[in-house]
Amino acid sequence: HAKERGKNNFQFYQAEMNATALERLELESDLRHALEQNEFVVHYQPQFSGNGQRLTGAEALLRWHHPRRGQVSPDQFIPVLEELGLVVQVGDWVLREVCRQLKLWQAKGIQLPKIAVNLSARQFAEGGLTERIATILADSGVAPGCLELEITESILMRDVDAAMQTLADLKRLGLSVAVDDFGTGYSSLNYLKRFPIDVLKIDRSFVDGLPCGEQDAQIARAIIAMAHSLNLTVIAEGVESHAQLEFLREHHCDEVQGFLFGKPMPSQQLAAQFGGAALFMLD
Ligand code: C2E
Ligand code: MG
Ligand code: MG
Ligand code: MG
Repeated sequence: HAKERGKNNFQFYQAEMNATALERLELESDLRHALEQNEFVVHYQPQFSGNGQRLTGAEALLRWHHPRRGQVSPDQFIPVLEELGLVVQVGDWVLREVCRQLKLWQAKGIQLPKIAVNLSARQFAEGGLTERIATILADSGVAPGCLELEITESILMRDVDAAMQTLADLKRLGLSVAVDDFGTGYSSLNYLKRFPIDVLKIDRSFVDGLPCGEQDAQIARAIIAMAHSLNLTVIAEGVESHAQLEFLREHHCDEVQGFLFGKPMPSQQLAAQFGGAALFMLD
């Protein structure tokens, strides 16, 4: 009996594995066609000054509308794009799309000071990044100062010398650079001081416990103080409540971003909601 059960379990296990493998294969093949099928869309999440009153920019966040699965989360498909080596191509598309949108908004008199674009590890490490961005900017006629690149600590620390060089090239081109999800990765303060970066983004996990969580409060205060002592702008992500905003304002966090102000949304919605009056009042 035991033997029989074992065999059944094994068959069951194998069937399950085949299903997972099949699904993965399907995901990969669908991703290979997603660009040409126009299934990608860029959404924009607004960013505000620390008091929550002035629109300072937006973060571009990639969305994939799969014909059968519907919306697939970037946390699910970006790692697959990365493994397949497609992330550079898709990343370039995001940059072009963002520049096209910036130009369109500028032509309509909608002033958005900057748009931040996330870069994946492979995109950052691949040679020719600065040249490709320079071409995209020139083709679209967007000023480099309007573009901010978001990179995680782990991407920067993977190869410090190469990162230093790439950052220097990007700075020379006139872009600004933000360290995303700050505090969740491993980074050395010594390098942080030497990297030519402009912005630290306090990870959502620390904003979560504000204002009452003592540990989160201490970490948030420490990151803000450190950023300011290094002359960096500090932005908090994942702000969902007035109480969190109040804490961040009191502690002089420069900018805020989160569901309290707006979820990532289609470009038309951002323009409709925030494009007219660049003033945003809470309450
Ligand atoms: P991220 O860059 O840290 O982006 C912030 C994530 O937090 C977004 O998730 C956003 O929707 C979410 N978020 C913003 N405010 C709040 C809030 O108040 N509460 C909560 N619970 N969540 C909030 P999303 O859009 O699912 O993106 C997940 C990650 O996927 C991003 O994290 C980024 O690492 C990656 N990603 C998204 N778009 C791109 C892209 O174009 N290129 C690359 N390489 N990565 C991207
Ligand atoms: Mg980001
Ligand atoms: Mg983040
Ligand atoms: Mg993240």
